[in-house]
Amino acid sequence: MIVILKPKSAAADVAELTETLENQGVKVDPVYGTELTILGLVGDTSRIDPSRVEANRIVERVMFVAEPFKMANKLFHPEPTVVEALGRSIGANKIAVIAGPCSVETEEQIQQIAVNVKAAGASFLRGGAFKPRTSPYAFQGLQYDGLRLLRLAREATGLPIVSEIMSPHDIDLFEQSVDIIQVGARNMQNFDLLKELGRVSKPVLLKRGLSATIEEWLMSAEYLLAGGNRQVALCERGIRTFETYTRNTLDLSAILAVKKMSHLPVIVDPSHAAGKWWMVSSLAKAAVAVGADGLMIEVHNDPAHALCDGQQSIKPDGFRTLMDELRPIALAVGREL
Ligand code: PEP
Ligand code: MN
Repeated sequence: MIVILKPKSAAADVAELTETLENQGVKVDPVYGTELTILGLVGDTSRIDPSRVEANRIVERVMFVAEPFKMANKLFHPEPTVVEALGRSIGANKIAVIAGPCSVETEEQIQQIAVNVKAAGASFLRGGAFKPRTSPYAFQGLQYDGLRLLRLAREATGLPIVSEIMSPHDIDLFEQSVDIIQVGARNMQNFDLLKELGRVSKPVLLKRGLSATIEEWLMSAEYLLAGGNRQVALCERGIRTFETYTRNTLDLSAILAVKKMSHLPVIVDPSHAAGKWWMVSSLAKAAVAVGADGLMIEVHNDPAHALCDGQQSIKPDGFRTLMDELRPIALAVGREL
């Protein structure tokens, strides 16, 4: 529920109304605009009688937010959110490109890829240290040593690092080590993890769950926002459909839907969506054309010998070509790269 106040309402009256509403079990989040003050009511609004709220002399109007997500809702927060890390942004006019290997494998590997993607114009380095693998016998990532190697790559290139967290036990380490904490598709509804991440001081990149609806995805973002972390970006990475040709089905319409309903930036990961390296470049271009705020691309210097996801990784040369081809597309939709 959103309460729009009359222009120039007195601070004392706003405080009194806030207290009355909070006594009914909701949290009141005010937004002070130049003309209007808006109170966002977060929590269970079912006990609040809107006609009684509207009876208050400072209230202009009460609006219902049909969607169950409130803080992620554009109605409540019309300004687009810009996620910031080490001076780079996701959600600003410049398309944010996060590139790097599926997994950190060796110091040489991550250093070389970091230098290559930076030279091609990437603004963030990705690399998995903790890998959510379907098989317990598959490579699980270098784990803590992987984070150390990522930090070294950041030192060498200045690129902010993005890496996936799997367990709430590692929150402190991730908060200290990485610049953007990634929540993978498989953990999108790990609510304990989301609650903990609501309290951290680092931005969170929330990937869409394998079979999650857009509303469920935004509700997961709501956990992070409600916990106090306002630095949240979303990542569409393909969803499970009846189609088996591709690893997942890239849902480009999700970008439009998220942009219509939410103020959160949304990027696209064509690598995990397609699962095939030769589709990545075309899907990346389509994503930018549709209005994505950024891309996450798996880049590997030797895909044939990659320990994870070589089949969907492009090489540094291909990445450089992609970046060159993306520039005019970004310009055509009023963005830069
Ligand atoms: C990844 O980005 O490394 C990853 C595992 O992706 P997803 O969670 O989208 O499957
Ligand atoms: Mn991968």
